[in-house]
Amino acid sequence: MQEPLPPILVTNDDGIAAPGLQVLAQALAAVGKVTIIAPDREQSASSHALTLHRPLRVNRQRDGVYSVDGTPTDCINLGILNLLAHRPRLVVSGINRGVNLGDDITYSGTVAAAFEGTLLGVPSFAISQQVNGEDPDFFVAARFAVLLARWILQVPLPAGTLLNVNVPQRKPHGTRLTRQGRRTYHQGVVERTDPSGRQYYWLGGIPPEWDESPGSDFAAIREGFVSLTPLHLDLTHYPLLQDLQESGLNLHLED
Ligand code: MN
Repeated sequence: MQEPLPPILVTNDDGIAAPGLQVLAQALAAVGKVTIIAPDREQSASSHALTLHRPLRVNRQRDGVYSVDGTPTDCINLGILNLLAHRPRLVVSGINRGVNLGDDITYSGTVAAAFEGTLLGVPSFAISQQVNGEDPDFFVAARFAVLLARWILQVPLPAGTLLNVNVPQRKPHGTRLTRQGRRTYHQGVVERTDPSGRQYYWLGGIPPEWDESPGSDFAAIREGFVSLTPLHLDLTHYPLLQDLQESGLNLHLED
C-alpha cells in the first residue's frame, strides 16, 4: 500500500490571491497534500502579529483552500490547532513578492508564519522571490521549494529552527548557505502635505542599503545565488549574557 501524502500547510503575507502563493501550492502538490490557509488581503510587514481583540472569520473557498481575515500567524494557528484534520508535516510560507533579507526579517509576515509553525512544533520554511521592477515568475522559487520540502520531510530540522529562503530575480547560479545580514541605511520617513493642508507621513520610502560582507544572505542574492539561512527563535545574545554575568552586574531593588 502506498504511504499517504504528508499534509503540508501553505500560507503567505501577500494575501490569498497572490500569484506566488498559487504557484507554490501547485508545485508542492507533487510532495504532499496541500492545504492553503492565507490572509484574505495583503498583510506584508505584519510581522508576528496575532489577532486577539476581535473574532476571526474563515472563508472556505474550495476544498483545501481557506482565506482568513487575519494575519499569517493567525492562519498558522487556525490551521494547526483547528482547521486541519491532520497535523501538518511541514509549513511553507510564500512565495513572497520581494526578498526578506537581513534585519527586515523581523518585519516580515512571511517569515513570522514560519516562526509560528516552528513554535507549534512543525518543521517550517519561508521563501521569497527578488523583484526588480517587472513581475517575477515564481517558477524557479517553486521548484526550489519542492526540493527543500522533500529534503526536510526526510531530514527533519532540529526543534526551534526554521529556514529562510530567498531566490534571486535571474536564474540562480546555485545555492548558498548564509547568515542573516545587516541593513546599513537609516530608516526614512517621507513627509508631505495633503490637499487640505495637513501633514502626512510615509514610512520606508528609501531603498534599503545592506552590509555586503561575504557569507550574508544579501551577498548571496546580489551575486545571483539562492540564499538559505537557518534561523532560530531564541533571541538571547549569549556572549552579552556571559559578559553581564562576568561584569558582576547587580541591580539591587530597594526593599
Ligand atoms: Mn509580502
